Amino acid sequence: MPNYAVGHKIPDSDSICSAIALSYLKTTIGEPTVPARLGELSPETLFILDKFGFEQPELKTSYAGEGVYIVDHSDKVQGPDDLDEATVLGIIDHHKLGDITTSTPLECWIRPVGCTNTIIKMMYDFHGVEIPKDIAGAMMCAILSDTVIFKSPTCTTADIKCVEALAEIAGIDDPKELGMEMFKVKSAVEGTPARDLVFRDFKDFNMSDNLVGIGQLEVIDLAMLDNMKADLEAEIVKVKEEGNRHSVILLLTDIMKEGSELLVVSDDASVIERAYDAKLAEGKVWLDGVLSRKKQVVPPLQDAFAG
Ligand code: MN
Ligand code: MN
Repeated sequence: MPNYAVGHKIPDSDSICSAIALSYLKTTIGEPTVPARLGELSPETLFILDKFGFEQPELKTSYAGEGVYIVDHSDKVQGPDDLDEATVLGIIDHHKLGDITTSTPLECWIRPVGCTNTIIKMMYDFHGVEIPKDIAGAMMCAILSDTVIFKSPTCTTADIKCVEALAEIAGIDDPKELGMEMFKVKSAVEGTPARDLVFRDFKDFNMSDNLVGIGQLEVIDLAMLDNMKADLEAEIVKVKEEGNRHSVILLLTDIMKEGSELLVVSDDASVIERAYDAKLAEGKVWLDGVLSRKKQVVPPLQDAFAG
């Protein structure tokens, strides 16, 4: 029976590409592993899979009785619902340490870098396994996505060096140009229902026993969302009610202007104002320089909830 490698719910390119890359590595070193996903793929991820000739990983939501590698998260609420009934063989991640625990020893690769695929490259190097060209290309794109083409404050020297090495293996001359092409695909929001946009990259967090949902839309020009903003605001009100959430925040990130507008609905907006030291106007505020949910949005909010 093979093991599985799976990323978080509402999978992004890092979750999918790291499941694929880790599965190949594990299988090569004699431990058959299959990449899986917990949900539908974004246009950006489909672009990457198509570009490098990959099928979509298997859609698999139940892992009871299976061996599983968790990639790109370590928060229970973001992983498979029945993870407690699975054997977690390892965690490979670059987020804050979450609340997944195990009853058996596990392999843990957690590093404060910009992307899980940067860590998986370290694992390939550790095991002395050559990365195939197509996998290198997909890994490289995931790093460009997670680091917003190196602009995110989460980006480290390790990520930049990793992209250089992977680009060479994949035979890609200009990774940044491919990154821009990818972000253009990601920015194509015209005609997409507001609900799909809210959930395109959406994560729930447990903050001092309050459920907080934070979505993010990254575009190359925020103006393209102007005529959709009212619909997005109406949608996050629904999302908050449906999920019994304390708050829902949607980050509209302009990757060229390098900042984010926050759309906020909350039972207590003062927590959010405190977290970002900013005043909301009609549930909205622009935060200059904010690109990263994990580094710039989640930690201050968690602190604000904690006290
Ligand atoms: Mn992710
Ligand atoms: Mn990631």
